[in-house]
Amino acid sequence: MVEKVDPFESAQKQLKKAINVLKMGDDVYEVLKNVAEYLEVSIPVRMDNGKIRVFKGYRAHHNNMRGPYKGGIRFHPDVNISEVKALASWMTWKCSVVGIPYGGAKGGVVCNPKEMSEGELERLSRGYIRAVGDFIGPKKDIPAPDVYTTPKIMAWMMDEFSKRKGYNAPGVITGKPVDAFGSEGRDEATGLGLYVITRELLKHLKLDPKKMTAVIQGYGNLGHVVADRYDKMGIRVIAASDSKGGIYNPDGLRPADIMTQKDKTGSVVGLRGTKQITNDELFSLKCDILTPCALENVITKENAPKIQAKLIIEGANGPTTPEADEILFKRGVTLVPDILANAGGVTVSYFEWVQNNMNYYWPKEEVNEKLDRIMTKAFRGVAEIMGKYKVDMRTAAYMQSVKRVAEAMKLRGFG
Ligand code: NDP
Repeated sequence: MVEKVDPFESAQKQLKKAINVLKMGDDVYEVLKNVAEYLEVSIPVRMDNGKIRVFKGYRAHHNNMRGPYKGGIRFHPDVNISEVKALASWMTWKCSVVGIPYGGAKGGVVCNPKEMSEGELERLSRGYIRAVGDFIGPKKDIPAPDVYTTPKIMAWMMDEFSKRKGYNAPGVITGKPVDAFGSEGRDEATGLGLYVITRELLKHLKLDPKKMTAVIQGYGNLGHVVADRYDKMGIRVIAASDSKGGIYNPDGLRPADIMTQKDKTGSVVGLRGTKQITNDELFSLKCDILTPCALENVITKENAPKIQAKLIIEGANGPTTPEADEILFKRGVTLVPDILANAGGVTVSYFEWVQNNMNYYWPKEEVNEKLDRIMTKAFRGVAEIMGKYKVDMRTAAYMQSVKRVAEAMKLRGFG
């Protein structure tokens, strides 16, 4: 039977595990196991055929003890409140593990952007902001892009919020295009951060990237940058996939060719010189590094025993279930958790917000150099905890984060 996993329950189990190792007691868990608040909204949108369609949307706030709430907005048919709450809590841990002054939030709309015109998408994006307008704000909750939302959507949302206020409020949202108050380097930040983590991990394990192969699930904003970065490090990318299926060539794929194929046809599938595989087959390929860059719950107790990779670097949020985590740890697989591996995106979102607040913009080199420093420091901190407590890297990353959040709660007072 296929494992049915509630992502928010997974997030709570991960938290509990770290709190137990830290011997923190029940109070901290009781406060942090739930989101602080969430909103469910109905968004009426006039479709191109003249009819009104009502979309369901959410925004959840997990914790803001270390700074304003922060987290992306997902447009996807499978969005649901459990997923949104899980993603909101992972944002708290992610911001804390890299030491940036934010809490955790997340939003989503149940929709299929692939079946909507640009006009419909714009009306939905503006409608979402009208619906959650009082729940967000530059000092309160700062959204960003996530699956199937883009810099252009962020620009519409920022514009709608600014119109409500009567002045430009660029700091309300990050991941905007550079010409609409965005930051240099934001588009590639998550992939670049994942590259820094991979570089540090391989150094830590004394492994040579030039002798390694990688498999990537998901070829969107994140997946394509990761492929490119791996390739530049000398890691041979042998398989990639998207929602339509995967491609495989043990001799290696050229990321630029994969992108051309995807731009031309909408999918990686069909690239010349590759064998077509399913997303399921992709997970059991013989390779050194497995990098999920799509959705959650793709590594489960069913497929974990078949995974041949010795390293898993979680680009996606929540790709591994807690049961799969246990299996992989026992099998000696090193797994870099999402909250550390993909924190580059929110780190440069933070830089974007700082630049918006100062109205002073940095060159790309400065952004990338600051990002590298933060990610390197975070990796080394987590690696140290892992060595000291002999725990898996997810638990070590949670321990780092939870300690910081709990300390802020203690200093400010719980109630
Ligand atoms: P995108 O929407 O740009 O890309 C998502 C990719 O996943 C697409 O290639 C999509 O396929 C693929 N996909 C969707 N459904 C499936 C499926 N059922 N099986 C296989 N592949 C699928 O999203 P991002 O790249 O931005 O995000 C990917 C992951 O990374 C998410 O978990 C997100 O939360 C996480 N993340 C992203 C950050 C960012 O800054 N972008 C920051 C931190 C985390 P198709 O192209 O065919 O639609």
